[in-house]
Amino acid sequence: MESTLELVTDVLVIGGGTAGSVAAIKAKERLPDGTVLLLEKANVKRSGAIALGMDGVNNAVIPGHATPEQYVKEITMANDGIVNQRAILAYAQQSFSMIQELESWGVKFQKTATGEYDIKRVHHKGSYVLPMPEGYDIKKLLTRAIRRVGVKTENRVMATRILLNEGRVAGIVGFNVRTGEFVVVRAKTVILCCGAAGRLGLPASGYLMGTYENPSNAGDGYSMAYHAGAELTNIECFQINPLLKDYNGPACAYVSGPFGGYTVNAKGHRFMLSDYWSGQMMLEFYKELTGPNGPVFLKMNHLAPETVSEIERILHTTERPSRGRFHAGRGTEYGEQLVEMAVSEIGLCSGHSASGVWINERGETTVPGLYAAGDMASVPHSYMLGAFTYGKICAASAIEYIGQAGMLGVDDGAVQAERQRIMAPLDRPTGIPPHLLEYKLRRQVNDYLQPPKSANRMKVGLEYFLRAHEELEQLGATDPHDLMRAAECAFIRDCAEMAARASLFREESRWGLYHCRQDYPEMDDVNWFVHVNLKRNETGEMQLFKRPVEPYVVTLDQEELRGYHRLRMASTAVEAVN
Ligand SMILES: Cc1cc2nc3c(=O)[nH]c(=O)nc-3n(C[C@H](O)[C@H](O)[C@H](O)COP(=O)(O)OP(=O)(O)OC[C@H]3O[C@@H](n4cnc5c(N)ncnc54)[C@H](O)[C@@H]3O)c2cc1C
Repeated sequence: MESTLELVTDVLVIGGGTAGSVAAIKAKERLPDGTVLLLEKANVKRSGAIALGMDGVNNAVIPGHATPEQYVKEITMANDGIVNQRAILAYAQQSFSMIQELESWGVKFQKTATGEYDIKRVHHKGSYVLPMPEGYDIKKLLTRAIRRVGVKTENRVMATRILLNEGRVAGIVGFNVRTGEFVVVRAKTVILCCGAAGRLGLPASGYLMGTYENPSNAGDGYSMAYHAGAELTNIECFQINPLLKDYNGPACAYVSGPFGGYTVNAKGHRFMLSDYWSGQMMLEFYKELTGPNGPVFLKMNHLAPETVSEIERILHTTERPSRGRFHAGRGTEYGEQLVEMAVSEIGLCSGHSASGVWINERGETTVPGLYAAGDMASVPHSYMLGAFTYGKICAASAIEYIGQAGMLGVDDGAVQAERQRIMAPLDRPTGIPPHLLEYKLRRQVNDYLQPPKSANRMKVGLEYFLRAHEELEQLGATDPHDLMRAAECAFIRDCAEMAARASLFREESRWGLYHCRQDYPEMDDVNWFVHVNLKRNETGEMQLFKRPVEPYVVTLDQEELRGYHRLRMASTAVEAVN
């Protein structure tokens, strides 16, 4: 495993999932005579969150159904006002043309009998959900487009660190997770598209890879951006989702909701006005789940048999096709029983929540030449279409950047130090097996960071996450696969430390369950109507600071801003969790 693969490219995209596929395609279209390289830890044919397709777009802003400004308002409300509206607006303005472009690549969206987009209402206020009942082959269509335009792809290569030259991006270091070959790529610009930090908390099943998120997303992007000195934001705004109990897939809102399915408590009563996933919705869900009326269920047994069959047809063939087999094994029939739901493990993900690498409306991070898109970039609630659209936005900005930037040299000392760091577990074949340390780290995340949060618990957790540096130095590996798992442990540790520090820093409660603090139960706009950002400073320490919320481009009054705080149905009020 001593050999080195050295590559040179104009544009380097890391992560060939949703955002990365589009970023690479669009960059290559804009740079027909240049080189675009796509690195993927798995295989682009079936990688990332949409590996097995997707059953709908959660946030389509379709002319005639919604305006970009209405959408910006909705997401500002869902995010308790802590947003960079310009970045959301850029998405809202450019996402419809992305849909049309996806259609030209063969992706199918649901249309009415008259050929209109068949938009459904799931959000609290507006209508943005566009079903994709035939969305199972979306990744195949993207892979075809990647090949057609001439993107160079390296599968099974995992990036581990970004290389800088005087503060500007110069390339990356990584290795082949099948052969162990060390990889150095020199690039004029890098677009990070590594998805969520999906292996932060441990799912109730105890399975390390039984996560809600695609499990190859271990927080690599968050950690690499941090070590490159980029700012990250809203890390304390965790991702927590309502899932099917004992099954790591989503349940209700976006598929069964438009057909008439909804969430109920054990008495069979509906208790929330909207099933759209937000922190405030999760808080109501959590209160009901853990209160006297819990557990919580998805109700579809009042629907007509043909409607139930249609829901099953969609849910059991795309996105998580194993869902049908899971229900069959349990003997659960949607048309007869209520389907039990639960709360997911925590993660970091802007796609569903708001935490990520800070980017502006051009996809630029705070490091020159470094761009980020998708679940790891900070545009909140952006989901699949946000990943596609920001992949495209980043490609345009990156190509513009390389017009002025040349190929920079890489620091051989930094390359050798990283080789030493990532290959070290091979020198300790009898060291701690990576899966054991990963289990321990993620158990501690559950024990100390899972909301509702408190400073006492989080401080104990933080002490452990810092001590875990020593355990990382004792990890052992005997093959490239375990080497990958060892490198992922370091990413997970970094994300856990960021999550603990950012959650301790924001001394208030906000975003419902996502940042619910028992010791600061109230939302405090006077002191905390700001972003909490963090970065690695010049001395290598994690520095936290407040970043002001930029003036809004779409104004809301106070009453509107609190819209998502009125989700509970009046007759079903329960005690607060604090
Ligand atoms: C279960 C589930 C259901 C969802 N349902 C919907 C829905 O119905 N509608 C909707 O709009 N959205 C939905 N979403 C959200 C949507 O799928 C995501 O927001 C979007 O796909 C994220 O795209 P991404 O490119 O950021 O991440 P991904 O598509 O996950 O891609 C990240 C890629 O990076 C690779 N990678 C990671 N680290 C490295 C590294 N170090 N080196 C190289 N490669 C690396 C990974 O292997 C992966 O292929 C769902 C998500 C999940 C998990």
